[in-house]
Amino acid sequence: MIETTLGPLPAEQLGWINAHDHVIMDGGYTVVKTPDFKLDSVEKAVEELTCWKNAGGGAIVDAQPFGCGRNVLKLIQVSEATGLPIIVPTGFQSKEFYLPDHWQYKYDEDTIAELLYAECADGVDANGYESPVVNRSRVKAGFIKVAGDYQFVSPHTKKQIRAIAQVQQRIAMPVLVHTETGTAADELLDEFERAGIPLDRVMLCHMDRNYDFYVHRRLAQRGAFLQYDTPSRIKYQPERFVVELMRDMFDAGLGHRILLGGDMARRSYWKAYGGGPGFDYLLVKFTPRLRAEGFTDAELEQIWHTNPACWLTLGQM
Ligand SMILES: [Zn+2]
Repeated sequence: MIETTLGPLPAEQLGWINAHDHVIMDGGYTVVKTPDFKLDSVEKAVEELTCWKNAGGGAIVDAQPFGCGRNVLKLIQVSEATGLPIIVPTGFQSKEFYLPDHWQYKYDEDTIAELLYAECADGVDANGYESPVVNRSRVKAGFIKVAGDYQFVSPHTKKQIRAIAQVQQRIAMPVLVHTETGTAADELLDEFERAGIPLDRVMLCHMDRNYDFYVHRRLAQRGAFLQYDTPSRIKYQPERFVVELMRDMFDAGLGHRILLGGDMARRSYWKAYGGGPGFDYLLVKFTPRLRAEGFTDAELEQIWHTNPACWLTLGQM
């Protein structure tokens, strides 16, 4: 069973899963610094996700953990209005999302492990671990997030990974990793290995920003999942690169390691806020393109359902 905003659900009820997106970003340092990140409206989220659902979309993996705008009560409202399950994280975003004196830099590994474990076992804090009062919601975390840096793994990230490993000894959890432009991925996997976390629990995000089949093949062969999210975002690269990369991965027998997400983390990306391309782009534009370029229904089902379900259930589906 997968923990969601609509309670624990079997994988088959999740449909086509968006493996990395942002439904609510309600405050936090980055939202103040860059107001385009502000995704605080339940109404707009319902509108945007209804388009996604009407295009055939299912569950959404929300990649905003505590302390940087996660609001589980709003996520529950969006799910109840749309019928779409949302998988909620515990853990940490990249450091740009926090003030430099955030508690994560002061607390030791054991304390951080306890805080993460409680969100996985008992429910995520409705206050986002931002106040002395913890108010656990009925939603348990579905995965743990951690972030790497551009070309290196910091001592701070290593501490977070060791804390995640402590949690894993008590409760097995999928891990979502923000990579900075797809770099230092091997080094991150080395740290997970050193900490004793099986690599098939790990999803490396934004990997197509480092478009390099040689690198991707090696990471997938080590057992990690690779998440792609550049389609529509031409500022990173033309879409043809990710289409070719996906084809190369399937041809190498590694199609079972690829996941897709929108990562529409800005209001200017949302149709509901008057921007674009919108949450449903991946389904109404990119998936038809994949079909036109030779991807079969079975391959699309694998990318959109089987692979993310496999990551979320730790291969138990
Ligand atoms: Zn993201």
